[in-house]
Amino acid sequence: MTSYFKQHPTADGFFGEYGGSFIPPVLQAEMDKITQAYFSISKSHNFITELRQIRKHFQGRPTPVYFCKTLSNQLGGRIYLKREDLNHTGAHKLNHCMGEGLLAKYLGKKRLIAETGAGQHGVALATAAAYFGLECEIHMGEVDIAKEHPNVVRMKLLGANVVPVTHGLKTLKEAVDSAFESYLKDPENSIYCIGSVVGPHPFPLMVRDFQHIVGIEAREQFLEMTGELPDTVTACVGGGSNAMGIFSGFIDDEDVALVGVEPAGRSLAKVGDHAASLSQGTPGVLHGFRSYILQSQKAGEPDPVYSIASGLDYPGSGPEHCMLKDLGRVTYTTASDEECLDAFYRLSRREGIIPALESSHALAWAFQYARENSTKSVLVNLSGRGDKDIDFVLEHYGIRELQD
Ligand SMILES: *Cc1c(COP(=O)(O)O)cnc(C)c1O
Repeated sequence: MTSYFKQHPTADGFFGEYGGSFIPPVLQAEMDKITQAYFSISKSHNFITELRQIRKHFQGRPTPVYFCKTLSNQLGGRIYLKREDLNHTGAHKLNHCMGEGLLAKYLGKKRLIAETGAGQHGVALATAAAYFGLECEIHMGEVDIAKEHPNVVRMKLLGANVVPVTHGLKTLKEAVDSAFESYLKDPENSIYCIGSVVGPHPFPLMVRDFQHIVGIEAREQFLEMTGELPDTVTACVGGGSNAMGIFSGFIDDEDVALVGVEPAGRSLAKVGDHAASLSQGTPGVLHGFRSYILQSQKAGEPDPVYSIASGLDYPGSGPEHCMLKDLGRVTYTTASDEECLDAFYRLSRREGIIPALESSHALAWAFQYARENSTKSVLVNLSGRGDKDIDFVLEHYGIRELQD
């Protein structure tokens, strides 16, 4: 373990001044148990061996690194993709859900509990639960259930109990409350599984560790393909798990620039039109941890957020990203809905890969970087495939032809 990983987070879960655990005492007792168990179990030979087998035979890892020949020729530079879209279920989320599921099994838990917004985390967790033979309870707002029908069907097929949340605005925020309530009724037999590098300690650490495989593989593969390291590595940032996964593989390589791309949505100038919490937020506590939060109207009250990519519309961000921003080790920037759409059509048409709208934010930034840096290489974490987005894109934007 290098000094970076030894130092961050601290024993009580702080990344610099971010992270930690700001939760009621009953919940803190449970989190302490999970932290202790995680530190012993995750270092055991059996756990490591079993997770390695799962990654290889169930998830289909390692996922490839792919060189975009056509786009590199056309735009300039050298553009590479880490193909998390080829991970089982079509995105990076399964990396931490399988880790959380395996931990639950070692802890003797019977049930996995979580909330889901658009349903991506719910599907990944339901997949893990089916694999391990655990019960799965996914809390989801009624509004989201109506909007995200295919993911609701997937979760049910996988055996999950989808609990409709019918109070308040009936979306993600209420689903979080409902899931926590259910978890607190029976913490002995269940475990709450967070969907990104967010939430109270130890989740930002655990989820980062489970996603670290992406960066380890990518670094090795890139070196083998090119004989050198990439000049720049980039990823989209919602909560920040796919970005932490790939960044953590290069964090000690000082010559490799790291760039996180947040959603600028329709406009950065208007509250509620974007979700660029690292670029525009201020420090505060949300959902049990300290991070940069969009809270321009009232301190502690998260602003409404928006992105064309529902996986990116979170008003805070992972505490490790907050620290890396302050340290200057990672640069955080944004891509708008329009830039994201252009990248979505461009990768589909030029390379034969339909990307998730989330990942298209990182692609958009990488394409512009390639245009401006003809001698440089950029590695993009292609966090997921775009099949889930095609109906939405077709309905709202149609089949667009590229102008160049
Ligand atoms: C959920 C999701 C994201 C955003 O989550 P992070 O924790 O920021 O990685 C990005 N890409 C895809 C494909 C997703 O499903």
